Amino acid sequence: MTKTKLKSYLGGRWQEGEGEGEALLDPATEEVLARASSDGLVRPLALEFARTEGGPALRALTFKQRGDLVQKTAALLQKNRDELIDLSMANGGNTRSDAKFDIDGAIATLQAFAEIGAAIGDKRILVDGEAIQLGRAPRLVGQHVLTTRRGVAVHVNAFNFPAWGLAEKAAVALLAGIPVLTKPATSSSLVAHRLFELLVEAQIWPKGSISLLMGRAGDLVECLEGQDCLAFTGGASTASLLRNTPGVVLRGTRINVEADSLNAAVLGPDVSPDSETYDFFLKDVLRDMTQKAGQKCTAIRRVLVPEALSERFRDDLADRLAAVVVGNPRTEGVRMGPLATSSQKATVLEGLSLLARDGRLVHSRPGLKPEGVPKGKGFFVSPTLLEVEPGADAPSVHSHEVFGPAATIVPFDGSAAQAVELVSRGAGGLVSSIYSEDVPFVSETMLGLAPFHGRLFLGSAKIAELSPGPGTVLPGLVHGGPGRAGNGEELGGERGLAFYMQRTAIEGSRPVIDRILKQEGA
Ligand code: NAP
Repeated sequence: MTKTKLKSYLGGRWQEGEGEGEALLDPATEEVLARASSDGLVRPLALEFARTEGGPALRALTFKQRGDLVQKTAALLQKNRDELIDLSMANGGNTRSDAKFDIDGAIATLQAFAEIGAAIGDKRILVDGEAIQLGRAPRLVGQHVLTTRRGVAVHVNAFNFPAWGLAEKAAVALLAGIPVLTKPATSSSLVAHRLFELLVEAQIWPKGSISLLMGRAGDLVECLEGQDCLAFTGGASTASLLRNTPGVVLRGTRINVEADSLNAAVLGPDVSPDSETYDFFLKDVLRDMTQKAGQKCTAIRRVLVPEALSERFRDDLADRLAAVVVGNPRTEGVRMGPLATSSQKATVLEGLSLLARDGRLVHSRPGLKPEGVPKGKGFFVSPTLLEVEPGADAPSVHSHEVFGPAATIVPFDGSAAQAVELVSRGAGGLVSSIYSEDVPFVSETMLGLAPFHGRLFLGSAKIAELSPGPGTVLPGLVHGGPGRAGNGEELGGERGLAFYMQRTAIEGSRPVIDRILKQEGA
């Protein structure tokens, strides 16, 4: 495996940053895998190259043609899937199953947007709704249309999904016809770098339409202009810095933020512990706590269980957590790997001590000895389950996201009103879930929670066999959430294209508007 300094792909060529660069590690063993530096790279030139070379080339293509390129990208990833999975295991501390979740998620998202491109067809603009008659006579109408913005889409990604995070943003932007500059999180950027090497070698995309900045962002975001779009995934404090950059504040750079979220799962009072729905709930909570060592923006952090069931649920979950083997993802039998970095480990441990002030520890393994790891190495944290007293205030549980293998049981009185009150203390989330067969309970809880969430998952025995659970983000459904979650919205099928396009109301004579739209294939 390479230990070289990884280059950025900017201005249509590979460019090396100055200095030694930052180390990219294997978080299970702390072995240095490669280095990355962006020092000395000139961001404004790279952005201008994308705007002037990539933009026109992409806009010359129709949605269908761009969809074909997205499909070729998916096929390229599929062809190199095994290599990408290995890199994701090495640089992300992912188990094979976690790594597949990332790589296969990327492929599936690309395929979904390729299909959307094919369905839209040979058009370059989108018509939004029907023409509206504006005057007394039908010949004066207003028609909304969407055209591609003339800037560049800068994508700043989080460390936890190096492939999916990159692909879910890039697929939408490229299909919309805007060039992309991706900045992966430095610590886990080996996968993004290899993906770009493959893409550049395969020459799928026109020159200037894809760029990669390895290493720190530097002044990248400060250089954005009014037609540019910035899509960010990461922590709320970084989001707040980005929202206050001159492009966003003064020049109208569009920004979309996917940030923290205290996702909740609610068990309905109708669910008996020997039912299929209870089992489904238990499995989903267990999976969200341990998959990717809990480093999933959509993972369940607060588990609302009716008081009468909380003891039984606590014991069932604790038993299952105790059986999870933690260690080096390459070791046979390991089900949960390490956290991605030493600083994530420190932040998670700090967060856990904060949560512990609100309640008591139900499951944790002090002195955890991860399997297959040199003594003292790796950024491992034990799966940790906490519980608060019924009716406790628990301020940290409802306001502090611990981005690791942890969750807190919050007993409640079994009413929809209290479930809504407790979950909405999270102040806006990506996804929450309700597991119940009682439709009036589901309906009241769902309607109460909807304004606080981008997605709600209704779990019941009827869908248990079919469902990937609330933690899986799907390309056809919106991803994002209000308030704490950043107020952003991504994906959602064709809806996602609108972020990279300008909606314009065209007012005029119907025959003229119709002729223009026909000419554009719209
Ligand atoms: P972070 O520190 O905010 O980093 C996220 C990205 O921002 C990285 O690429 C980072 O680059 C970059 N960055 C940092 N400072 C920057 C600056 N001043 N200008 C431009 N870019 C900058 O987040 P994190 O701690 O790595 O990620 C964990 C957080 O992400 C969690 O709190 C989680 O809630 C959130 N998350 C949300 C979602 C979602 O979809 N809503 C998904 C995953 C994670 P470097 O790596 O080079 O510093």
